[in-house]
Amino acid sequence: MGFLQNWAGFGVTFRTMFQKTFTEDYPHVKGARPDFMPRFHGRHQLNRWPDGLEKCVGCELCAWACPADAIYVEGASNVDGENISPGERYGRVYQINYLRCILCGMCIEACPTRALTMTHEFELADTTRAKMIYEKQDLLAPLLPGMEQPPHPRRLGDDEKDYFLGLPATGTPDTLENRKKSQSG
Ligand code: SF4
Ligand code: SF4
Repeated sequence: MGFLQNWAGFGVTFRTMFQKTFTEDYPHVKGARPDFMPRFHGRHQLNRWPDGLEKCVGCELCAWACPADAIYVEGASNVDGENISPGERYGRVYQINYLRCILCGMCIEACPTRALTMTHEFELADTTRAKMIYEKQDLLAPLLPGMEQPPHPRRLGDDEKDYFLGLPATGTPDTLENRKKSQSG
């Protein structure tokens, strides 16, 4: 009886050996990464407007909202024509300490300009404590086609509010082309 049960067990093993695998060989196979839910909370990103100016206005609301005291912001005033953001101020220093962050998302809820969002990047480990404090340059979104590295004048209008007025419909990527379309329509 025991002998027959053993062979039944081997049968399951052999059958399974030839079936499609559902596990991924991460991190050994490049590109093999887990599937994420759309609202997964990973590393933060500081976003830009379609002309390249930074959305962060250095208001510190994210830092005040953070229950883990993981964010440090220092704002500074913009110089007209050499803007970093379209607002009066911009975030001169921006740090997130990932030794403290619990990835709760309270900071992105508090941000009034949607400057701060969360990506799907989850590989947040390193060899020293200092490397776990991400600086502004580590968090800033890359420059996409049509964007120009600040400082430069406002390209989407003469006033901060012009940036918000030109927003494309919800769900549409915020690009220069989509803004022109939404303004003409
Ligand atoms: Fe703080 Fe939560 Fe934002 Fe992390 S995700 S920086 S813990 S508010
Ligand atoms: Fe203010 Fe948002 Fe910048 Fe934080 S990320 S300082 S909430 S604009």
